Amino acid sequence: RIVYVNGEYLAEAEARISIFDRGFLMADGVYEVTSVLDGKLIDFDGHAKRLQRSMDELDMRAPVTTEELLDIHRELVRKNEITEGMIYLQVTRGSAGDRDFAFPDPETTEPTIVLFTQAKPGLADNPAAKKGIRVIGIEDIRWGRRDIKTVQLLYPSMGKMMAKKAGADDAWMIEDGFVTEGTSNNAYIVKGDTIITRALSNDILHGITRAAVLRFAREAQMKVEERSFTIDEAKEADEAFVTSASTFVMPVVEIDGQTIGEGVPGKVAPRLREIYLEESRKAAV
Ligand code: PMP
Repeated sequence: RIVYVNGEYLAEAEARISIFDRGFLMADGVYEVTSVLDGKLIDFDGHAKRLQRSMDELDMRAPVTTEELLDIHRELVRKNEITEGMIYLQVTRGSAGDRDFAFPDPETTEPTIVLFTQAKPGLADNPAAKKGIRVIGIEDIRWGRRDIKTVQLLYPSMGKMMAKKAGADDAWMIEDGFVTEGTSNNAYIVKGDTIITRALSNDILHGITRAAVLRFAREAQMKVEERSFTIDEAKEADEAFVTSASTFVMPVVEIDGQTIGEGVPGKVAPRLREIYLEESRKAAV
């Protein structure tokens, strides 16, 4: 696999980062995951804008322009012959050659940028989308700036493991009784003909897929309510689903062992998945 590191395209075994990099020592880094369908980038603009916002919120310097970023994405897709899959991008504050809690001087410290591809044939045709996934509720003990897409992913990883241990696929995190989001996706329920999902705030990641799906839902005259819901309300819902760049729209058919609706994907989530895939393929770059 050919990867990109700080201006160079290299074989992955040749790629190197300093052991003093703050991404490694302090999780002082941000990331994005963009999916590739038909060899093209899905929602690239949204991901580039959110990356800029994450860097701004952390006073991190952008290592490349958005135009350069698009070129790098395309070049990696080409070099690795990706038809369906993902591109992972990470930017860290870099390092001043020592370990220090204070940020190094941004004038003299180069940020680190790394990108690599992951081929995922069958990403759009994922069989899990036909069956739906099972989730469990767990406490949300993450920090208070979940709107910044940092690489501090230890708790979401632990959540995923708790889910696997419980025989489920993923976890929905709960704070003050209300569902915040999934370990790596935004969470939704459907009641009657209304789609309900938590409103944007610092408590959740502002999903790029979420923005697109809500726009398509409204364009298709579906009702959307942006408000918090409890895990108990979710268990009584007609449908549940999650969205993310790598799973698009994924039905949820079980929460804490309780069946949602008929225990199979309902009408709304599969329809939204279809619309999302169709529209974003058309808009892919
Ligand atoms: N919430 C969290 C915590 C996530 O990690 C992700 C995916 N990275 C999302 C939501 C979904 O965001 P997006 O649609 O931009 O992939």
